[in-house]
Amino acid sequence: MLELIFIGTGSAIESLNRFHSSFFIQTTEYNLLIDAGDCVSKALLKQKINYHSIDGIIFTHFHPDHFSGFGGLIIQMEFLQREKPLQIFTHYKLIPFVKNYLHLSYLFEKNISFDIEFIGFNHNEVFCVCDKIQVKSKSNMHIDAYKKYDEDNKIFFSSSSFLFNLKGKKLFYTGDIGTKDDLYLFSEEKIDYMITEITHISIEDILEAVKFLQPSRLYLTHISDDDGETIEKIINQTSAFDVPTIEAVDGMKIII
Ligand SMILES: [Zn+2]
Ligand SMILES: [Zn+2]
Repeated sequence: MLELIFIGTGSAIESLNRFHSSFFIQTTEYNLLIDAGDCVSKALLKQKINYHSIDGIIFTHFHPDHFSGFGGLIIQMEFLQREKPLQIFTHYKLIPFVKNYLHLSYLFEKNISFDIEFIGFNHNEVFCVCDKIQVKSKSNMHIDAYKKYDEDNKIFFSSSSFLFNLKGKKLFYTGDIGTKDDLYLFSEEKIDYMITEITHISIEDILEAVKFLQPSRLYLTHISDDDGETIEKIINQTSAFDVPTIEAVDGMKIII
């Protein structure tokens, strides 16, 4: 059995109702966390997910609402004397950044109880997390606007949308996106589950993409407290083209 769990469905705006972005893919052989937003340790605790059960973490990008819980989660694993290695998946050019972040947080590989294995991926290439989880990353436009601030050209800007192949079922995880074109990054695929953020994209653009892509099911996430009306509009209008649409909430599960 394969279980997908929304750990945090909030946007970057703080909320008492939702944790920040994080999503969990649970299989019999491997458990993968997608993003580790602010307070992810608490969010996992709330869903009764044992930190040791996490085999790997994959990052879409490094905005704090997707990343800043990472250091705290490593500390929790250390407190619990984890022994099993932890795998970190990120674009291969960003591995030095993640290592630096850990070192600057005083989390040195030699001083913690478990190994951290860094596994770099490249965009547009399929890679296997385990037998049941294959991933393809594509670069989206979410952070492109920041390039103008990097005058020395030192930063590698990369924000991923993912297509997960889960035992033959295709899951399109938009991550945070930048333009409506990002919704079509995997348009050549027959998408079973589409999980889209709703913060950086208009209702009209979501509807147009969903009508074209025809996923079997659409899940809305990255939600702020005042998004109720937006969600209602999307849910009402996707029913016109027979795409069942669900507002994700923290703890919601998809069984595959
Ligand atoms: Zn975000
Ligand atoms: Zn973001």
